[in-house]
Amino acid sequence: MDHSAFRLTVLGTRGSIPVTNKACAVFGGSTSCYMVQAGGETVFLDAGSGLVFAPDTFDRPPVILLSHLHLDHILGLGMYPRLSEEGAVTKLMLPGTSPMAAARRLAAVYTPPFWPLLLTDYAGTLITETIPWSFFVGDIEIKTMMGRHPGSCLVFRLCYGGRSLVYVTDYEPDARSFKALISFSRGADLILYDAQYTPAEYEKRKGFGHSTAEKGIELLEKSGAERLLLIHHDPHATDEELLRRERELMRDDAHYAREGEEISL
Ligand SMILES: [Zn+2]
Ligand SMILES: [Zn+2]
Repeated sequence: MDHSAFRLTVLGTRGSIPVTNKACAVFGGSTSCYMVQAGGETVFLDAGSGLVFAPDTFDRPPVILLSHLHLDHILGLGMYPRLSEEGAVTKLMLPGTSPMAAARRLAAVYTPPFWPLLLTDYAGTLITETIPWSFFVGDIEIKTMMGRHPGSCLVFRLCYGGRSLVYVTDYEPDARSFKALISFSRGADLILYDAQYTPAEYEKRKGFGHSTAEKGIELLEKSGAERLLLIHHDPHATDEELLRRERELMRDDAHYAREGEEISL
């Protein structure tokens, strides 16, 4: 592994629920999952259905960070092959006050009758921890900020070798939070931003906890960040629709995320 590289792989970028049909061949239908690799470490941002086909062999145990526990962000855990590999260690970090309480919340879904077994019953070793405000995974420094979403959601900033990426999923801005987000994103090389709705759709879905590409552009410009990756595509947004929105943005520094794409920072 090239230790100077800092790379993002989009494994799933659909919001709310996975979709499979011909109209999602370009942008993909798997839900939120992004793999970040730097300094020999692997960090997954969320564990949506995109995790199911993620790489599962690494030099060092991967760390899965969950922004929040909505189903579209945890859907892939149960079928991630690494969890079933005897001797394979995976660290799962989630919001919560104590590791026990956090694990209990996850076990409310991954338990019979909703799922055949608990995640801790798999053959691999799953270590559950809560996410501190600021911490390191190897040489990757990770900072967090409280986002704005029903039931709350964390925003992450990952820094490595002087470069940084900000992950803003499931986020609905208000003036105060957006101001804090601009400071938090200052000078980032890449911002991933929730652009589930068009401005017209947003007017009808206020309070649902999502945002627009236009607000993402505002964040890009005000924070002085380099590039914007628009994420959390609405299940009803077809390839044709997302390509149209992308064209209308008329920016070389912003595009809608495509499942399978890799971005080097
Ligand atoms: Zn979501
Ligand atoms: Zn959510």
